[in-house]
Order: sequence, then C-alpha cells, then structure tokens
Amino acid sequence: MWRGGSPGRFRAVFGGSPLSSGGSPRALEGKVALVTAGTDGIGLAVAEALGVAGAQVFLSSRHAHNVQRALERLRGRGLKASGVTCHVGVAEERERMVQQALDTFGAIDILVSNAAVNPHLGPALDADERVWDKVNVTAAAMLVRLVVPHMERRGGGAIVLMSSIAGYQPMAGLGPYSVSKTALLGLVAALSPELLPRGIRINGVAPGLVQTRFSSALWQDEAVQEKALGALGALRLGQPQEVAAAVLFLVSPQASFIAGQTLLVAGGGGARL
Ligand code: NAP
Repeated sequence: MWRGGSPGRFRAVFGGSPLSSGGSPRALEGKVALVTAGTDGIGLAVAEALGVAGAQVFLSSRHAHNVQRALERLRGRGLKASGVTCHVGVAEERERMVQQALDTFGAIDILVSNAAVNPHLGPALDADERVWDKVNVTAAAMLVRLVVPHMERRGGGAIVLMSSIAGYQPMAGLGPYSVSKTALLGLVAALSPELLPRGIRINGVAPGLVQTRFSSALWQDEAVQEKALGALGALRLGQPQEVAAAVLFLVSPQASFIAGQTLLVAGGGGARL
C-alpha cells in the first residue's frame, strides 16, 4: 500500500528526478539553504558543501565573531553566504533568523538543523532537572514548523536533522545528550508522513566520532580515542566534510526517493535501537 500521499505527489517532492539533474556538481543552483550551528565543525562543512553545490547559504550560531569568520571563509571561496547570530533554544532568535534568511535570499528551500544540546558530562543519574529539560526536540521541531510554509510556497523542500550514533547506543557519561539524539530519530520519523504530502522530505544524519571541537575530549588523547572508537566499532575518526557529503546527498535530487530516514555516517560503526 502506498503511504505518504499519492505517487504523483511524491514524484513532485523537492529534488525532482535524480536522472535529470542529480549528478550535476551544481545540483542546488537556485536553492536557499538555512544551516543552524553552521560556523564550525560539521555545520560549517555542510554550509560549504551546499554552497559549492550552488545553494545560497544562510548560516547561524550564537556568537557574532563565529558567524563573521564563517562568512568570510565561504565568501572567500566565492560562495553566496549570509548569516546572523541565533541561539536555537530561544524562540525569538529562531524567528528572527528565519525572517532574516527570507529578507536576504527571498526563500528557504533547505533546512539543516545542526545544533546540539550542551553535553552534561557524567552519570545520567547526576543530571538535574535543568539538564533534562533541555533534552527535548523543541528547537528542531519549532524550526521545522517555521520553515514549512515557506518551503510549501516554493513547491517543496528538504530538511536534515543532525542526530548522532549516540542516539542509537548511549555513550557512557553522555546520557542526556544521547537521549536528545534518540529523540531526533523519532522526530524525523514522526514528521516525515506529514511533510511528504507537502512536498518536503525530512531525513536525519547520525555521525559517529568526528574530529571537531565539540568531540575533542574523545579524540585528543590517543588512548581515549582508541577506546571511544572501539566502543563505536569504527577504525578511525571521521572528518566534518564526510558528514557534509551525506547531508548534501540527502538534500539533493539524488535522494529524491529517500524520506523519513536517519543515515548513519560512522566509519563502519553499527547501531540500532
Ligand atoms: P562543533 O565543531 O563544536 O561546532 C558547534 C557549532 O554549534 C558551532 O558553530 C557553535 O557556534 C554552534 N552552536 C553551539 N550551540 C549552539 C546553539 N545553542 N545555537 C546555535 N548554534 C550553536 O560541533 P560539531 O561536532 O560539528 O557538532 C555539530 C553537530 O553534530 C551537533 O549536533 C553534534 O551533536 C553532532 N554530532 C557531532 C559528532 C562529533 O563527533 N563531532 C558526532 C555525532 C553528532 P557558537 O559557539 O557560535 O554558537
């Protein structure tokens, strides 16, 4: 039985036919991409990859100097980029970001929701109520809600939520963070059937251990790194660009028949709930 709208509607879902345009190195020409937490690590690599593929990129993070530095880097490569400060946990800042993206580029076709909950290091039992209150899907769900009408006006869109391998196999000392990432797996699955009939594909990406500032406590010390990789079943660290390649694929026409999935990008590490 067909699920998620009529077959004709699904054919029209953002991305068109992979056979006609998917292989183009400028597959996102004319599209506008909004990337949260897009000034460092994986988010910056995503912003860069989408820009190189032809998208106009609107990025954000909490600190103005980080936004400025990221924009200089992208513009230095000749990419069309703009941005603003935004703490994704603050409703007014999310709204301002979306409005500014629209004011700047006139549309939003792609959303990459990349920001994470601040990791609480230590036993999950020690996490207090303030920590657990942040372990929710509010920021990602509200962002999706904000962009959907604008994507619909454009005839569709593509959304990627950044989860983690820790969402499948909770990592010791990172309990609340892991649970927040598990929740995102559920959010992708729950939203997909509602978004598909609107022409919008939502998917997730779950990176393994990737060499960024965020994960530095797990790779800077060689012994710690080896232990972490062993626990995850991977032979090496990933690079932000390797995760960005997966995001680019999921928002591109080549993934036009993929929706409601979370793609594990973990260097061979396996995971299931
Ligand atoms: P990163 O290199 O440390 O970059 C973090 C980015 O997030 C920065 O641009 C930071 O800029 C921004 N940011 C932090 N809190 C924010 C907030 N509340 N609102 C908006 N922006 C915020 O981190 P990363 O490793 O690339 O992580 C990116 C995503 O990948 C996260 O969701 C993380 O959970 C996920 N992930 C990472 C790994 C890994 O091994 N690295 C593995 C699995 C999943 P400002 O400081 O200016 O806000």
